[in-house]
Amino acid sequence: LADRLKGTEKNIWVDFSKLAVENKALNLGQGFPDYPPPQHVVDELMKAVTGNNPLIHQYTRSYGNPHLVNTLAKLYCPFLGRQVDPMNEITISVGAYGVLFCAVQGLINPGDEVIIIEPFFDCYEPMVMVAGGKPVFVPLRPAEKGGVLSSADWKLNPEELSSKFSSRTKAIIVNNPNNPLGKVFNRDELEMIAGLCKKHDVICISDEVYEWMVYDGNKHIKIATLPDMWERTITVGSAGKAFSVTGWKLGWGIGPPHLIKCLQVLHQNCIYTCPTPIQEAVASGLDYEITQLDHPEKCYLYTLAKELLPKRDFLAKTLSDFGMIPTIPEGGYFMMADISKLNLHIPDDDTDDPCDFKFVRWMTKEKKFTAIPTSAFYSKNHKSLGEKFVRFCFIKDDKTLKKAGELLQDWK
Ligand code: PMP
Ligand code: GLN
Repeated sequence: LADRLKGTEKNIWVDFSKLAVENKALNLGQGFPDYPPPQHVVDELMKAVTGNNPLIHQYTRSYGNPHLVNTLAKLYCPFLGRQVDPMNEITISVGAYGVLFCAVQGLINPGDEVIIIEPFFDCYEPMVMVAGGKPVFVPLRPAEKGGVLSSADWKLNPEELSSKFSSRTKAIIVNNPNNPLGKVFNRDELEMIAGLCKKHDVICISDEVYEWMVYDGNKHIKIATLPDMWERTITVGSAGKAFSVTGWKLGWGIGPPHLIKCLQVLHQNCIYTCPTPIQEAVASGLDYEITQLDHPEKCYLYTLAKELLPKRDFLAKTLSDFGMIPTIPEGGYFMMADISKLNLHIPDDDTDDPCDFKFVRWMTKEKKFTAIPTSAFYSKNHKSLGEKFVRFCFIKDDKTLKKAGELLQDWK
């Protein structure tokens, strides 16, 4: 293994998805829907490959199929409050993962520090390490008030965050809505982060793959729309999340040309281009959504959150009834729940892993139910902040969620 990959050998999705399959467990672990995506998007893919354009099967423009980047420019213009140049201010890659990878590789030099807010989507840490950068972690801390919390009760301490910025800081990664917590950062919080970015001349990589999934009247605010932030922000989106097609692996980065160029340099040489039919189908699917933006009841980008809300509430009740203490997410499709009051005796499994890993492994094997241990979303020195929580995914068929409820009922 190349030296620069040392320390990144383990992957939570690989390990726990395998464990779930091996144990035929009910899987509320990895985030993907177990029911069909919107039919019109599937139809667009069919149309793309069965139409009479032979070039649909061939390479397309490296930085994104022209149809797709034009559509994205149109879609995001009102949300960014500015015109977006489709050719120079948008770039496409292999899922949000691909875009994040291009951003980190394209912008980070060895020794640069990158601030990561915990709990964080796990890939940020290895991506920064592989680029030779140094991740610097700062945790969101839950309010000490007992009982069910909202993700809004998890906050950054402004002094603590400020203390992490230095002359070596090159970038901060903000995940809004956050995975695994579901926190939707409010305007004050974003302004505080933006203020520090501007003060220290830092780039903001804003991972917004769950941008459409916000609940309870919360509003998703793009940090790129705050004063003087466009120039220093890369906003990351995902077709897999927007259209519930995680297997399509198509993502986009939007930002000023001088930053987008850096992502494109990496992408053009390492990936070159993304599948043409998928880009065409996503573009046509989004063309339709754009016509429905004023009809929220017909626009999938809006109906998805409506569809997810009762699932979120069902899961919260199910977990609470069992004795876990959920943090109710304001966005995204995951829920963290505190397992420390369960009073279970989990047999030791001879690993040095944090206790949430032992718990989920045991639950998968013995109870045929799986989730994701939350300490996976914390850095080595902060694992203890995550190990009393487990993350559950609720973009699942109601039948699947009901089965989860029955399983927990039987277990009690
Ligand atoms: N960012 C976050 C916060 C995620 O949860 C995910 C998971 N899908 C990704 C990025 C990667 O998205 P994609 O599947 O489009 O690569
Ligand atoms: N983003 C998804 C999750 O958090 C899955 C990521 C993955 O499987 N690599 O569950």
